[in-house]
Amino acid sequence: MKVLKNVEMKEYSHMKVGGIGKELIIIEDRKEFKEILSTRDRVYFLGNGTNTLIDDGNLDISFISLKDFQNITVEAKKDEYDLIRVEAGLDLDNLIDYMEKNDYTGLENIAGIPGSVGGLVNMNGGAYGTEIFDCIEEVEICDCKGEIKKLKKSELTFKYRTTEIKENKWIVISALFKFKKGFDRECAEDKRDQRKTKHPLDYPNLGSTFKNPEGTFAAQLISDAGLKEYRVGDAQVAFKHPNFIINLGNAKFSDVMGVIDHVKKVVFEKFNVKLETEIIILKNN
Ligand SMILES: Cc1cc2nc3c(=O)[nH]c(=O)nc-3n(C[C@H](O)[C@H](O)[C@H](O)COP(=O)(O)OP(=O)(O)OC[C@H]3O[C@@H](n4cnc5c(N)ncnc54)[C@H](O)[C@@H]3O)c2cc1C
Repeated sequence: MKVLKNVEMKEYSHMKVGGIGKELIIIEDRKEFKEILSTRDRVYFLGNGTNTLIDDGNLDISFISLKDFQNITVEAKKDEYDLIRVEAGLDLDNLIDYMEKNDYTGLENIAGIPGSVGGLVNMNGGAYGTEIFDCIEEVEICDCKGEIKKLKKSELTFKYRTTEIKENKWIVISALFKFKKGFDRECAEDKRDQRKTKHPLDYPNLGSTFKNPEGTFAAQLISDAGLKEYRVGDAQVAFKHPNFIINLGNAKFSDVMGVIDHVKKVVFEKFNVKLETEIIILKNN
């Protein structure tokens, strides 16, 4: 394993907010999980940091990265489909490129989400009616004691933007995908284009801040509440997509939290709807 000390964590969050992490450990081998988990008090597994808001100040947290876990392996070829094992550190975009090259279909709708495979599996990420679990057969996890096991999809519970993996704080090491042939290039390109048009990608952000409440859209509620461009310090509700909070330059953790708390309060007062955050808020204590 590689261990970096006193790391500026804002460089590892897509929001460009965050203090100094005690250490950042880059895991190089499965055998290292047990040692790390038994010798550290507080760990946080970081993927691409596209959904993680990190506190400011000195963070008494060991950040762990699976960035070196990038392999893609064909495990079985059947008549109707292939089984492909993908390690957690791979960017979703690289997996989509691999699918295009090998003519596999199933994840075109989620093309363009900037997360890692591990991050997406952890929270069952998705878009446009597709969730990553739609194509999963099995997940290789490491539990909190460092035990590694492979769990079939039927042994796991998962729903909208959460999974048993997330609730139990397990680590995703790899996922086994079941892909049929027939990559839909037009669909993937269309979804990537829609993201460029609809999302405020000129500023650091973490994607959708709040989960969509049942039957409605968080962005619509925030817009109807008149909160577009509501700002605290350098954190602002995006005009282009009001479920996004953008960092206009030097936003602090407390600025982003100020926006989140205000949006929750106003939406509850106006519509009696409790917004729940989709992003992960990592506090120092
Ligand atoms: C512009 C933009 C657009 C987005 N659009 C979408 C969208 O359409 N749909 C959607 O679902 N999300 C979207 N997101 C959010 C984000 O990309 C996803 O939530 C993604 O799954 C996060 O992956 P990550 O690797 O960046 O995770 P991180 O932010 O690094 O971590 C998020 C959570 O996953 C955990 N985690 C990371 N790696 C692992 C692992 N190997 N094992 C276990 N837990 C792990 C972390 O501990 C943390 O709890 C968007 C984000 C941005 C910035």
